[in-house]
Amino acid sequence: MVTLATQPRRLEHVLSSDQFDRGLLEDVFARADALAGRRDTRLAGRIMATLFYEPSTRTRLSFESAMLRLGGAVIGTEAAREFSSAIKGETLEDTIRMVSQYADVIVLRHDQAGAAARAAAVASVAVVNAGDGPGEHPTQALLDLYTIRSELGSADGVHIAFCGDLRFGRTVHSLAQLLRLHEGVRMTFVAPEVVQVGSDLQARLAAAGVPFRLTDRLDEVISTVDVVYQTRVQKERFTDLDDFEAARRSIRIDRAVMRALPRRAIVMHPLPRVDEIATEVDEDPRAAYFRQARNGVAIRMAVLDLLLG
Ligand code: ASP
Repeated sequence: MVTLATQPRRLEHVLSSDQFDRGLLEDVFARADALAGRRDTRLAGRIMATLFYEPSTRTRLSFESAMLRLGGAVIGTEAAREFSSAIKGETLEDTIRMVSQYADVIVLRHDQAGAAARAAAVASVAVVNAGDGPGEHPTQALLDLYTIRSELGSADGVHIAFCGDLRFGRTVHSLAQLLRLHEGVRMTFVAPEVVQVGSDLQARLAAAGVPFRLTDRLDEVISTVDVVYQTRVQKERFTDLDDFEAARRSIRIDRAVMRALPRRAIVMHPLPRVDEIATEVDEDPRAAYFRQARNGVAIRMAVLDLLLG
């Protein structure tokens, strides 16, 4: 068994990136380093419920893999809107009250921002926000930050270009908040107006003194960035198809863009990709997105250990 310093429990739920400070981040990353690639029995007898009202591949399976690797057990439902009592009209709150009786932690993905906080308000066990509509996706941000640190050595001083759907892309919202805890970070938000980053996040970054700018031209900044964080246009969140079409034609990373990217920079993407990164980029050593996805298991082991260990 891996031995880690025992610390008082500092997390009851994981709902937002806002909950993390540098000390807690170091704790998560130290646990992830210690647990990566291991099998352990530290969560034997504990049960994790995955309740997914929106599709997922990586988040659900990496959480399940993480729990099994720690000796715990997994129950759950995907397509919870159809396959749970939601279809009979049960409220999220009632469902959570019930699932709290069956599991020690609930990993929830939902289509409404704020759903995880609503769940935590009535849950008698830990709740993890695994994506709440256009809101946040804090465990993705943890694995993204872990990736930046392992690829570049440190997140301090990085210039990151967030590209694509910055309005609905919850992973962007969560990662920008974690990066604001780092020294000397600069952010450029590269998107057409219709999916540019919201005023809330801009206000929070300004209040934290983080220098950032908005543009729709990646070519203006590509040669100065350390990280390109590309995202999918979140088709499912648009009510206006013209807006979606306008957004869909936005920034695409291909071989020509890679030629202008510095040699030591990396390209990240939370996945799934549609066509916003050409497959010809995959062979480039700077394409970090599959390595990034691999970090999900170790980070989620660390999060479960922190919540239940
Ligand atoms: N998988 C990520 C999320 O759940 C990104 C995406 O869906 O585009 O937010």
